[in-house]
Amino acid sequence: MKCPKCANMETKVIDSRAVEDGMGIRRRRSCEYCEHRFTSYEKVAVTDLFVIKRDGSKQMYDRDKLRKALIIAFGKNNLSLEKIEDIISKLENKRSGMGKEIKSEKIWEDVLHVLKAENDVAYVRFASVFMEFETLADFQEILG
Ligand SMILES: [Zn+2]
Repeated sequence: MKCPKCANMETKVIDSRAVEDGMGIRRRRSCEYCEHRFTSYEKVAVTDLFVIKRDGSKQMYDRDKLRKALIIAFGKNNLSLEKIEDIISKLENKRSGMGKEIKSEKIWEDVLHVLKAENDVAYVRFASVFMEFETLADFQEILG
């Protein structure tokens, strides 16, 4: 895996452990060039979940898209990338074994729910972003 700091291709795994009841693996990696340390996750992909948008159209759930939206919403200073991955994993685990479709607004409600329980600062920031929009759906539209 590429080093996020210097883009060197050689990184080594220095620690590896199961997370989320064995549904995922979290690895600490170290860059062999600049010695930067970072974390990567490997997990079962959620592939059969459809997101229903406000206009009624459906699209495949996309973890990368949700991650990007959360990064935009929080800014990197308010919530670390690791924490964002953690929140997404929690949401995905909650969805597994449930219906195959989820409304887009429901995803954002769930995000707020997890944040409220865990991180006051990020929750306040996220909630205040919402205040500027009429509904969660409007917010999501802006995020694309
Ligand atoms: Zn590096």
